[in-house]
Amino acid sequence: MALLTDIAAAVLLLASPDPIFNRIWWSIAPSNVKVFTWRLVLDRISSKEILWKRKVLQSQEEITCSVCGVVAETSAHIVVSCPFSVDVWRGYYHWLGVQTALPLEPRAHLLQFVFGLNKLQQKCAFAIWLVAAWSIWLNCFPRWCGGYVNGYGADQVEVLALDQV
Ligand SMILES: [Zn+2]
Repeated sequence: MALLTDIAAAVLLLASPDPIFNRIWWSIAPSNVKVFTWRLVLDRISSKEILWKRKVLQSQEEITCSVCGVVAETSAHIVVSCPFSVDVWRGYYHWLGVQTALPLEPRAHLLQFVFGLNKLQQKCAFAIWLVAAWSIWLNCFPRWCGGYVNGYGADQVEVLALDQV
């Protein structure tokens, strides 16, 4: 079943006119991470906002981010703009020796992460971004209303993500 899902995802990714999907698919990141990123860029991950739109969550109060408690939990908020996620990304940029403003949209965030690098550096940085985004989602945010998976801190997520690359 997982193989069929991967094949279906590959066909969809490669048929897309947006070149970012080709770059995601040909990344050196694990296939489950590539599928996650594809869904993230298309705003198809199971954020609370999506669950509310699908009527899985019944009230709008339930869609507030479980980590910061300030704004609605959208896929973009989870991965790039929640203060927790921003701490993770600032850790990566600090590790890379770069100071920059962070885009609030995942696609722009990913493209900025690899901007200005040579081809080999871009391939590595692209995989690091994919795995970091997946790790933020997997380790720090509730899934399907089931509560936190691990509740790691920002520095622990950075280490967990780097172990995957
Ligand atoms: Zn938040």
